[in-house]
Amino acid sequence: MEQRKVLIASGNLLQAHTWKGMLEASGIEVELRGEALMGGVGELPVDAQSVQLWVFSGQAEQAQLALAALDVEQPQWQCVQCHEFNHASFELCWQCSAERSESHNG
Ligand SMILES: [Zn+2]
Repeated sequence: MEQRKVLIASGNLLQAHTWKGMLEASGIEVELRGEALMGGVGELPVDAQSVQLWVFSGQAEQAQLALAALDVEQPQWQCVQCHEFNHASFELCWQCSAERSESHNG
């Protein structure tokens, strides 16, 4: 059995879910634990709840680095057609639907 440890705790369930998704995108398995997750699905207050992100001990260091990297602003790319800024997850410009074009190294 692998040991798990708390990576970080958040008072914001949405934030916790965001982190979880981003960490999992980095190949890090994350488990959310907390009181906020125990109740029914009904009215879920998204704040004033304590949610913890648990990761395997073996991935904790990697997870912390990933989390540190997430503290910076979301990477954006600028459309070459209309110069609009787009979120990194968009493959097409939201404004003019031009394809994302940026230089990739390698
Ligand atoms: Zn555009």
